[in-house]
Amino acid sequence: MAKRNGRGNSKTPMMAQYTAIKREHPDALLFYRMGDFYEMFGEDAREAAALLNITLTARSKGDNAIPMAGVPVRAAHNYLVKLIRAGKRVAVCEQMQDPRDTKGLLERQVVRIVTAGTLTEEEVLEDSEPNYLVACCVRGERAGVAWLDVSTGEFQLTECATARLNDELARIDPAELLLPEDMDIALPSVRGPVQRRPDFDFHAGEAEKELTRFFGVQSLAGFGVDAIEVPAGLACAGALIRYAEETQKSALPHVRRIECFQRSSRMALDQATRSSLELVRTQREGQKDGSLLSIIDETLTPMGARLLRERVLAPFLDRERIERVQDAVSESVEAPALRDALRDCLTGIRDLERLAGRLSCGRANARDLVSLAAGMRVLPELRTAVQGAQSTLLMAVRDELDDLADLADRIQQRIVDEPPLALKEGGVIREGFDADLDELRTIGREGKVWMARFQARAIEESGIATLRVAFNKVFGYYVEVPRSAGTETIPASWIRKQTVKHAERYVTPELKDYETKVLKSDELACDQEFELFVALRDELASQVSRILDAARHVAEVDVAAALAELAVKRAWCRPALSNGQELTIEDGRHPVIETMLAGEPFVPNDCALGPPARSLIVLTGPNMAGKSTWIRQVALIVLLAQIGSWVPARSASVGLVDRIFTRVGAADDIARGSSTFMVEMEETANILNNATDRSLVILDEVGRGTSTYDGLALAWAICEALHDRIGCRTLFATHYHQITELADLAVGVHNAHVAVREWEEDIVFLHRIEAGGTDKSYGLHVARLAGIPGDILDRAHSVLTKLEGEGERTKPALATKRHDGQQLDLFQPPPSPACDELSELDPDKLSPLEALLKLKELKERYGS
Ligand code: ATP
Repeated sequence: MAKRNGRGNSKTPMMAQYTAIKREHPDALLFYRMGDFYEMFGEDAREAAALLNITLTARSKGDNAIPMAGVPVRAAHNYLVKLIRAGKRVAVCEQMQDPRDTKGLLERQVVRIVTAGTLTEEEVLEDSEPNYLVACCVRGERAGVAWLDVSTGEFQLTECATARLNDELARIDPAELLLPEDMDIALPSVRGPVQRRPDFDFHAGEAEKELTRFFGVQSLAGFGVDAIEVPAGLACAGALIRYAEETQKSALPHVRRIECFQRSSRMALDQATRSSLELVRTQREGQKDGSLLSIIDETLTPMGARLLRERVLAPFLDRERIERVQDAVSESVEAPALRDALRDCLTGIRDLERLAGRLSCGRANARDLVSLAAGMRVLPELRTAVQGAQSTLLMAVRDELDDLADLADRIQQRIVDEPPLALKEGGVIREGFDADLDELRTIGREGKVWMARFQARAIEESGIATLRVAFNKVFGYYVEVPRSAGTETIPASWIRKQTVKHAERYVTPELKDYETKVLKSDELACDQEFELFVALRDELASQVSRILDAARHVAEVDVAAALAELAVKRAWCRPALSNGQELTIEDGRHPVIETMLAGEPFVPNDCALGPPARSLIVLTGPNMAGKSTWIRQVALIVLLAQIGSWVPARSASVGLVDRIFTRVGAADDIARGSSTFMVEMEETANILNNATDRSLVILDEVGRGTSTYDGLALAWAICEALHDRIGCRTLFATHYHQITELADLAVGVHNAHVAVREWEEDIVFLHRIEAGGTDKSYGLHVARLAGIPGDILDRAHSVLTKLEGEGERTKPALATKRHDGQQLDLFQPPPSPACDELSELDPDKLSPLEALLKLKELKERYGS
């Protein structure tokens, strides 16, 4: 619990100062520095005491009593984290003068407002995830989004259709979201707090001025940002920078550029797809473990981990870009020595990006600098490792990587190998670096020798061998005599200062004189060390661009080497890429499920799509057979191919897709006020409205959320639209066996099923995809396996027999074989020569009599 410093009431100058500062930060808890404590008063104190479980006391008494709570500065970090996690913002107000220099009221200032989206502290940030401060706004049909990671300096903006804003926000995953005050549209729940900002903060014209000022440039054209093309995105970027400066109160030199997120070069994945393919979190528990990323992430540095994550969430579209990564992966796969050398180097590199971020904000401590230097020391080795590289990506690293040796030298020359955490208590600067400092230290050291001699003399004078010279902050140096030694032999010149339980404490004039000298030199040495440290930190901060460039190269190498490691460990293959529409996979496996099967081998399966002759596969088969697994594995293989990874297959040939859409499984979104079926139809509508002939569409059980016939009718019509109108590659897993009839009507539709073997009363899942449809779901068998009691199963069996009997009479026949020549299709005219001829007639040009004669003629020629 916090110990109080000082007393007073609300009328004191200090409380007046507090009130004035607090007035400027009404939305934040104010940590008001008083000596070794941050104190909070009034409502802030009440709120913090409840959240932090610390004691609430009062400043002053009686009517003037003000609630007060405090946390020690040394442990403030932990308390800050708790408050931020509870959704609070904290304004940290420091003493701007040294208490030794003034007797009156100390000048105080808020030096930083700590918020969830502007954290830079390594201990509270996830290594492998960015921490984005995000702003968004809507301008009619267009929405703007900008995101900034204050911990690394990454800053991007984009625009999208307003209808896609939620997907975009879900992809970016804001740690804190800024919205204009007047914005009034339903947004997804975000993990971090939402701050409303004045509308004028989101003014595009002002934003441009703000950003050009911030970057010190004439225009933003050099960053590829055009105010006319992306006004809403720009408005958000302006609001972000204003907020970041307001909260950080520092220049943020590590935020060096703003990039326009190239929607046209990255694959847009909607929220339903990201979640059903479990790219970075599992669908059910929302865990990272078990996601695609968790399985493929072999990166060794935090920068690499974040880059891989970013790519999984937005794979590339451009073949050249993908092949650049692929080539580097291949090179590292084929040369184990290169791979090992790269990965050995990477193991030693800390989070250069976040260290650079902390340098820029003036928050790096001496240990950060030592880590930075250690990371930099590895860079020359990394450059040597890629010396003979042949792939473009690794050659670029060889040619462009700055090894930062001069910066590492500067740190090493100045900072000791294992510095303390505190910066103002000395022990940070290396001996021999600064002559003045060394001199002050010598006095301090000699002082300690003097103190030892003094103790020996005091023992001699008093004859008390058990006395000792000690130090505390209140009395400084003193002689402590154990009570058991008595006081008779204590020299008269000693002055008794304090009595404690087992001892008496004395000072002597000589001891006090020397103390002043020693303490002063220690104090001066600490001040000098701090100055030298800050000077170095500022020098390094001015070089932050170089550090960030190096960090980017490290991240690229890390991702390539990690994908190579993965390919080798898991026996994956390099997919062939093309700009065509084929998708051929031989012996494909599901990258996640294959690692999770305990003991059982994963059964590999092929996939062959290639519009127009083969654009849609209808997959039927029993429950639990592996339908969802197969269709997802195809989608994941394509996604992996498009981040430049090798894929779990014997061979694969991927015509690049512009988007992957999935509609897998039903999920109620009660929070959004949608029923299961509504969500299902919304997601399907999104596919139908946005898929192109270059997309890959994965549908699992579409239509299941409503009555059988409604669902079947919808599923049929949706398949037709995907095949006839859009012409995309589609995999459709369904229990509506009637849909297999579509293959008889549409050339590009093919049937496949997952094979099972019936054995006595049981079924054996073979998990093998075979050509052709099936009309059995074995639902009751699976129910038995799941433990449904036997009597209920018997009853279900008799109901099923009855239903199937009726089904024979009423079963909807949606299509028949072409050669039957009969129309049984409910949704589309059957392809018959008679129909073809009929459809060519223009009804407006025929009289009723001519029409009748034509029909008669057709009937005679083709039969009924
Ligand atoms: P349902 O129709 O009930 O949704 P499904 O046909 O979609 O079932 P999946 O969920 O894909 O079945 O698979 C069920 C389980 O079968 C998986 O969790 C996995 O354990 C196993 N499985 C699926 N495919 C394979 C495979 N190729 N090799 C080995 N095991 C597999």
